[in-house]
Amino acid sequence: MNTKIRVVERLAKSEVRGRRRRGTQGGSDEIITLNNVSKAYATGAPALNGVSLHIKKGEFVFIVGDSGSGKSTMIKLLLRELVPTSGEINVMGYDLVRIRHRKIPKFRRNLGIVFQDFRLLKDRNVYENVAFAQRIIQMPNKDIKRNVPSILATVGLAGKYKAKPRQLSGGEQQRVAIARALVNRPSILLADEPTGNLDPKNSWEIMKLLEQINENGTTVLVVTHNREIVNAMQKRVVTMKKGVIASDEEKGGYIDDED
Ligand code: ADP
Ligand code: MG
Repeated sequence: MNTKIRVVERLAKSEVRGRRRRGTQGGSDEIITLNNVSKAYATGAPALNGVSLHIKKGEFVFIVGDSGSGKSTMIKLLLRELVPTSGEINVMGYDLVRIRHRKIPKFRRNLGIVFQDFRLLKDRNVYENVAFAQRIIQMPNKDIKRNVPSILATVGLAGKYKAKPRQLSGGEQQRVAIARALVNRPSILLADEPTGNLDPKNSWEIMKLLEQINENGTTVLVVTHNREIVNAMQKRVVTMKKGVIASDEEKGGYIDDED
């Protein structure tokens, strides 16, 4: 057999071995992989039905779709808050179907998550709300004292350390939640309708902040209903419909529902 063919064969075999080791993950630059994922709750039609989705490191992706189309279910699966009924999920190299329970906290450390309703600790000030995320991972106090002001400056809240959540506008509260999500330097930021409680001006500012975070290297997934912003930002848009991906477009727009 000629040498060139042997080399090619060897490369092909090592590729197969590599795939086995990586499990369901499609490639080294892929950070989120869903293969044929379904999720059924105890009652009703499946919330997700055979969803496959591949997201590369550093992407910014909008997830849009009607209420009840399965967006939050997808986010919860990515957080390993839920386990799929069938299919494969790989996030940052972790096989989320087979992951051991004791490994889940370590896995979640590399994820930042932001919700529509901010979920701040009401009786703690801004500094403590953000520091809390660092205390959970046992970051030394001297590092917390450096990291928290730095991340608060990044989100535009340098002067608000001592304020309690109720003394802040909705937009400012969401910035605190984003700072808390980012302070441990996650690889991925997930946001489930982060502008759902905000007026148009604050919504724009929050989306621009998420874009800036993405430009600094974090992979960002944003579930949103904000048609105007999605159409203007020209990012990848995944549209969910009744538990399936109805479209997935680079530099997409918000597709109007026909029904
Ligand atoms: P979205 O975020 O797009 O509005 P969800 O993922 O929250 O959609 O919900 C998808 C479907 O799953 C809906 O039909 C919803 O009623 C159902 N669902 C969501 N959570 C639960 C649950 N905990 N138990 C039963 N059904 C649920
Ligand atoms: Mg939802």
